[in-house]
Amino acid sequence: MLKGETPKGKPLNGKTALVTGSTSGIGLAIARALANEGAQIVLNGLGDEAQIAALCDELGARYHGANLLDPAAIEEMMRAIGPVDILVNNAGMQHVSPVEDFAPEKWDAVLALNLSAVFHTTRLAVPHMKANGWGRIINTASAHSKVASPYKCAYVATKHGLAGFTKTVALELAQSGVTANCISPGYVWTELVEGQIPDTMAARGLSREQVIDDILLAKQPTKSFVQVEQVAAMAVFLCGDQAANITGANWSIDGGWTAE
Ligand code: NAD
Repeated sequence: MLKGETPKGKPLNGKTALVTGSTSGIGLAIARALANEGAQIVLNGLGDEAQIAALCDELGARYHGANLLDPAAIEEMMRAIGPVDILVNNAGMQHVSPVEDFAPEKWDAVLALNLSAVFHTTRLAVPHMKANGWGRIINTASAHSKVASPYKCAYVATKHGLAGFTKTVALELAQSGVTANCISPGYVWTELVEGQIPDTMAARGLSREQVIDDILLAKQPTKSFVQVEQVAAMAVFLCGDQAANITGANWSIDGGWTAE
């Protein structure tokens, strides 16, 4: 719920939504959109304390700063924030390197954040959703849950894994009023994309412009970056009653990338 608004008359009034990795990028856009629909938001992610406090004020949100690389911190967060009705597993990281040079500690970190953290938040959120007969689990996957690109072995492995995890959970919860779906964006202009440009330049020996035009947008037939608000709109739709029979799906928002 946005600051200053009355709690009546919005579709997600009375629902608590935890959005992981919502201090920037796609997660923040999803948190804003769900707040706009009346949900009570719990933000999570890394970042500057003052900026996060300003976001909490803007969205009327709570915040928990659990580092999702640590399962014990996830357990503490889920206990501290209480039951959630909408779980958006969005936090994620990228590392770009040829497989033979891929640092094992980077592999472990990408798996911990992009995949294991989703398992932990989900297992801890599901009992309340089942007992309540209503819940929405939305996982930010990626076009890389369907296709691969070189030099992203950990990311592609985790996003493919996330798609499989989501389908499994959807089947287990199919008769409980709880849905589980993936949203799979192509390239969205956020800090995550900005941050991988230098490594991609190094790995492929390309200029910044070549990485943007020849590597990133080369994948997207529309030749334009996906907007964070477009991803957030899909998340809002999946939370609605109209989406009650959509479960186990993996929604592409990728400008046609995975149609090829
Ligand atoms: P981003 O870097 O803007 O946001 C990542 C968020 O995760 C931030 O809030 C950050 O603080 C948080 N985070 C990072 N490490 C964390 C940790 N250890 N514990 C808790 N929070 C942590 O990136 P984004 O582009 O908005 O990415 C969000 C999701 O979207 C990711 O899962 C990413 O894989 C996916 N995605 C992004 C794109 C894209 O092009 N940007 C495309 C497809 C999928």
